[in-house]
Amino acid sequence: MSIIDIACEESRTRGDARVIAVHLKIGRMSGVVSEALLSAFELAREDTLLAAAELKIEDMPVRVHCPQCGCEQLADSIQCLCCSVCGTLSPEITQGCELEVVAMELEPMEVV
Ligand SMILES: [Zn+2]
Repeated sequence: MSIIDIACEESRTRGDARVIAVHLKIGRMSGVVSEALLSAFELAREDTLLAAAELKIEDMPVRVHCPQCGCEQLADSIQCLCCSVCGTLSPEITQGCELEVVAMELEPMEVV
């Protein structure tokens, strides 16, 4: 499902409320480029309930569970999944792959 579909669906369940903003979390490893997503969204939102909606993107850094530190740490880079504190290669990514809609701002249709 695309973001537009998710947002339209949500809008419909609230009686075709106008969508003002869609808040997204995009991990650096999700393969999604914020700029590309924004321009795609601007084209796709035309003639939908999202025509006036704004995309608000929160960029999520990559975090790994470091076996050496025994806790979650920021990764060095998306190419090297090493703990940024001690440099140990981590097998477990705990954050950074997400692409999710976290919140939506809706404005109810005016009741006449
Ligand atoms: Zn570490």
